[in-house]
Amino acid sequence: MEKERLSILILGGTTESYNLAEILENQPIKVTTSLAGRTTSPRIPKGNWRIGGFGGTEGLIHYILKEKINLIIDATHPFARQMTEHAYEASRIAKVPLIRLERPLWKKQEKDIWLSVSNIDEAIAVIPKGKNILLALGRQHIAPFTQIDDAKFTARMLEYPEDMENYKNIEFIISYPNDLYQEKELLLDKKIDCIICRNSGGDTSYTKIKAARELEIPVIMIERLPLPNALIMHSVDDILAYLKNI
Ligand code: NAP
Repeated sequence: MEKERLSILILGGTTESYNLAEILENQPIKVTTSLAGRTTSPRIPKGNWRIGGFGGTEGLIHYILKEKINLIIDATHPFARQMTEHAYEASRIAKVPLIRLERPLWKKQEKDIWLSVSNIDEAIAVIPKGKNILLALGRQHIAPFTQIDDAKFTARMLEYPEDMENYKNIEFIISYPNDLYQEKELLLDKKIDCIICRNSGGDTSYTKIKAARELEIPVIMIERLPLPNALIMHSVDDILAYLKNI
């Protein structure tokens, strides 16, 4: 495929998607990053961008055809399952190739104390009673924990939920994941006995896992479920190498 004729849609929202857009902006490729619009002041990617849902698979197909997209790169978060499924369907129906940029999973290390579960309900079932729990989950995943009254919850996230009044049993800390020292301080300061998080992979939020390892704090790890087939690449560099050769 001639580079000048490449028109790429990056389904974004992750660090990797911003990195990819920044690198591709300097190449003779039309690149548009799509953001879901979940946060009130999202970081704006380099190059073209759009914001908001497409309106399901059909909406995405319409967009792809209208904008003459000839390569979709799904660089969404590994737990953004619905967008990934829509991208897969849209790629299949519109016959536009799809690459999924999938961060490698975190692998349990020797000193990690992990309890692997498949979903939030399973995580809730194994919460140790009467303990201090850190919820390292997105805003949209914490509602089920409002029903639990025999544990104390701290939630670290980027923004307060809009319906704060519904989360009276949860203390919020608004911040990005920190460096190892600060992560350990947070865990010690809040006397955290257990972390609940998802196996997102990547470096940005791995420091909490390292901090938990060093402090011997157990982690209830929500593992990824299988996603639809796609051409999977594990890094921005892999995608750049692929693009050089098409
Ligand atoms: P999701 O459940 O897979 O998607 C729900 C709906 O949101 C999709 O059907 C789509 O709406 C819209 N959407 C999602 N990603 C979009 C994108 N990049 N561009 C345009 N529309 C998008 O997704 P989610 O878990 O809510 O995550 C939303 C976004 O936040 C993702 O882009 C993801 O990369 C980013 N993010 C998510 C997490 C997480 O923990 N899940 C963490 C960090 C960043 P329509 O059906 O209307 O097209």
